[in-house]
Amino acid sequence: MLVDTHCHLDFEDLVAEQKGILARARHVGVQQIITIGIDLPTSRRAIALAEANGEIYATIGIHPHNACALSSKVFQELLTLGHKSQVVAYGEIGLDFYRDYKPRPVQISCLHEQLNVARQLELPVVIHDREAHEEVLQILREQKAWEIGGAMHCFSGDWSFAKKCLDLGFYLSIAGPVTYAKAQILQNVARQCPLDRLLLETDAPFLAPVPKRGKRNEPAFLIHTAEKIASLRNLPLEEVAMQTTLNARKLFKLPKVDGKTTSERNE
Ligand SMILES: [Zn+2]
Ligand SMILES: [Zn+2]
Repeated sequence: MLVDTHCHLDFEDLVAEQKGILARARHVGVQQIITIGIDLPTSRRAIALAEANGEIYATIGIHPHNACALSSKVFQELLTLGHKSQVVAYGEIGLDFYRDYKPRPVQISCLHEQLNVARQLELPVVIHDREAHEEVLQILREQKAWEIGGAMHCFSGDWSFAKKCLDLGFYLSIAGPVTYAKAQILQNVARQCPLDRLLLETDAPFLAPVPKRGKRNEPAFLIHTAEKIASLRNLPLEEVAMQTTLNARKLFKLPKVDGKTTSERNE
């Protein structure tokens, strides 16, 4: 059993094929899926998907690509959405100094504000950090983020940065790039990270793992990332699957499932 802790099921190319995508995920043992909000409309769509499917859970938040000053209206709506029972985390939020779609000061203040929203909602955070490691770390420290907890999604730093994130009490979430031949730095992180602090994600529809690299990604492909990490650590796949599932359940407070999943959650 596996948990895809980060994907974007509401993106057009995944929505169109939703039934098949969920069936293929179930077939390889991906029994719980967290779909991520990146602005208000996608946050609402994530919640709707979770309401309609027992194995899907949602997050809400404003991605650094969409960073803005939060008006009191937006702030209120985030609080309202965040209280829905299907919402298991706040994010993805963070800094993206690679694309730089929004001015850095705006990204920084938006991250600060949303860490406060997450704190009010008592939700762990999902952090997007692209080429902004030190800046993200500094803000998480300033905000005492260890009190909130969370995951560094699609982790992309080296082991030295990884240790600093682990020191904050955060989990490292590993995505498809760990399967790429040139990803030695990330593979080293996946090898060294304590197993009880590791999460798996696809970030679908992006970043499909080998042997699906270049294709449209989907939660079922999580199995390839899990297999890669198992082989890097010289562990049976079952052990990596079981421990990362326990980690996801602990951080995001997901219920146990016994293979029947849907409809039982609200009973
Ligand atoms: Zn991201
Ligand atoms: Zn994402």
